[in-house]
Amino acid sequence: MSSIFADRMKTLGTETAFEVLAKAKALEKQGKSIVHLEIGEPDFDTPRNIKDAAIKALNAGYTHYTPSAGMPELRQAVADYISRTRKLDVKPEEVVITPGAKPIMFFSILALVNPGEEVLYPNPGFPIYESMINFVGAKAVPIPLKEENEFSLDPEYVKKHVTKKTRMIILNSPENPTGGVVTREQLKVIADCIKDRDDVFVLSDEIYSRLIYEGKDESITQFSGMKDKTILLDGFSKTYAMTGWRLGYGVMRKDLAQKVAQLMTNSNSCTAAFTQLAGVEALTGSQKEPERMVEEFKKRREVIVKGLNEIKDITCKKPHGAFYVFPNITGTGMDSRKLSDYLLYNAGVAVLSGTSFGTFGEGYLRISFANSIENIKKALERIEKSLKKQ
Ligand code: PLP
Repeated sequence: MSSIFADRMKTLGTETAFEVLAKAKALEKQGKSIVHLEIGEPDFDTPRNIKDAAIKALNAGYTHYTPSAGMPELRQAVADYISRTRKLDVKPEEVVITPGAKPIMFFSILALVNPGEEVLYPNPGFPIYESMINFVGAKAVPIPLKEENEFSLDPEYVKKHVTKKTRMIILNSPENPTGGVVTREQLKVIADCIKDRDDVFVLSDEIYSRLIYEGKDESITQFSGMKDKTILLDGFSKTYAMTGWRLGYGVMRKDLAQKVAQLMTNSNSCTAAFTQLAGVEALTGSQKEPERMVEEFKKRREVIVKGLNEIKDITCKKPHGAFYVFPNITGTGMDSRKLSDYLLYNAGVAVLSGTSFGTFGEGYLRISFANSIENIKKALERIEKSLKKQ
């Protein structure tokens, strides 16, 4: 019998983190102890001032629809924040608020990329990029990120792979899953390469821009002419520990913002009103809590990198940003998928296979250090012990 599903569903990928989380939860239900280092979310609670702003908004009756592109208050706050942090002149009409930042990937690719056109994207990289490129019938052209380059991209490689059919280049810095960071010089090469191409856009995923430990967060929007060619994606999930609130945004030229808002009208209608007002507080209120979180992540990074390098057959570079390490596991003799399963079932440690982030992730694991130092140490001990038994 032919499938009941529309043909397009064959091309849609997924995010394995949610599948591993489900497997780990099933094991916990059976009474197994699992250390969760698979999912990419801060373990901290959302700061008090942000929660209070949401409660106040609920009590004040912000329980109705808002404009599809977002409430004027939050669009203004985002425009001010991006103007300040990226040194740009952003207007509220250039901001679209979405439930999480992820829909900005979905909507900008849907709005700009035709079947048969090419999209360059980082590999290993956030799996939704490749999934969405395939979903719209475009050709996914990987930009391999290599350990010997500290997982930063090679701009000359990008330049060589820009063709007449290229419609979009996806950048992500600091990067998930590797923690790699792109430099200003590298971005300049890419900006120069496409500056005369009216038909090429950049999707610049800057969701980890505040979680940077070395170097500086750089945005391609700073180069002449690039603001109008870029969809800058950012949000609240990682910086303010607000993953479950579903609040993010894209900054883009006004005509594209209108199309993305139209996609919002056709899908979600709008983002929850009280959540948006909590977002205003996040951007304009005290930044002490997010700053404290970064300091804490820094300490955890030291513990996990040192601990992994002490385990025989594993080597681990220090990530420059985000809250993931991407250790090389080729010395274990197991492939990435096999080792991640082995660690889940034998060590009680949930991590992700590097291949969950694309074919160039083979030979690596992605381990999140968005967990307490105590749990990270416990996971390290368990990994070491289980590999010795092997
Ligand atoms: N971009 C990257 C690189 C991510 O890792 C994630 C979440 O894991 C997102 C975007 C999506 O964030 P949000 O929870 O705001 O949709």
